[in-house]
Amino acid sequence: MNSLSNIKFQSFKEAEFYQPLDFDDSKSVKCFLCSHYCTIKNNNFGICKVRFNSEGKLYTITWGQAEGLAIDPIEKKPLYHFKPSTRVLSFGTPGCNFFCLNCQNNTLSQLIKKSDILSFKNKNIEPSEILQLAVNYKADGIAYTYSEPTIFFEYARDIILLSKSKEETKNLFHIFVSNGYFSKEILETIVGENLIDAINIDLKFFDDKNYKKITGGTLKPVLDSIEFLYKHKIHLEITNLVIPDLNDNDEDFQKLTNFVLNLSKDIPLHFSRFYPHYKMLTKHPTIIDRLLRAKEIAINNGLNYIYIGNTDLPDVENTYCPKCHNLLIERKRYRIFLNFELKKNDNFCPVCGYKLNIIS
Ligand code: SF4
Repeated sequence: MNSLSNIKFQSFKEAEFYQPLDFDDSKSVKCFLCSHYCTIKNNNFGICKVRFNSEGKLYTITWGQAEGLAIDPIEKKPLYHFKPSTRVLSFGTPGCNFFCLNCQNNTLSQLIKKSDILSFKNKNIEPSEILQLAVNYKADGIAYTYSEPTIFFEYARDIILLSKSKEETKNLFHIFVSNGYFSKEILETIVGENLIDAINIDLKFFDDKNYKKITGGTLKPVLDSIEFLYKHKIHLEITNLVIPDLNDNDEDFQKLTNFVLNLSKDIPLHFSRFYPHYKMLTKHPTIIDRLLRAKEIAINNGLNYIYIGNTDLPDVENTYCPKCHNLLIERKRYRIFLNFELKKNDNFCPVCGYKLNIIS
């Protein structure tokens, strides 16, 4: 018997998105929070290591385990076209449903140990406390980020629903920064309950081989999530981390930009520079020319808003009107200079009147 069987899991929150598998006596359950759709035997974790089956009940052991609480500019997520120059209270919780070999937040997402679980029980941060922090620090919204919001979905949802129910916090906006590996059921819940206002999804590769090898996931559920959220009018931006020898070739840039274009030329696309992290320390940072080539291909394919992040390159984070090329938003390392007229009249270029995909 492993030591986990001695833990009283009843003191953790029961998960909300699972089903007992009643066809035998094994007390197994199926979690349908993300597209792994884990079948979890009694006394075992799901792939994310933060959902545990104890006697046929699934528990979410990181409910309330907010880590890394900080106020960030929304541009840091990155979200460049949603409420520019606002401030968001940001946090994540331990664990992840991916195991990205290059994870920048690996101490939070990957290094969860069995011994951590016992300490979790004593330090819940209630949703009301998160909201109070947002009020105290005059945040404009809350970002569920750093690790993967899918795997702390019940916690995020509790915070959002409470926020909407209180006069003081009902105007806070809520954003996810996600790998997009949602289940269909969770996507329906997000849209059906009107939970989030905007999302940035990491579209990491354009083939299953790299998705599986580097992240443990697959491509199609991510594409499905992007299409679903776009179709349901959630403000959406996409990030692609460009990693040498894995996805820095023209063919991948073509596939990626064509996929985005097929949804809308107005979806902001962020190419981000890779630096060695975690288990990918022997690779060199992305060659700048490859980032510029990605941008060139995206422009040639007709996308309107393309950005390059994680570099000191000039003029790659600014937003211009796609029609008359008037500078709308200038960004320098999270310092934002918003066109004055745009503040008063969002959605339209103040010079030529072109309809913009910017929510002020
Ligand atoms: S959240 Fe995803 S990885 Fe975690 S147990 Fe559920 S289906 Fe598995």
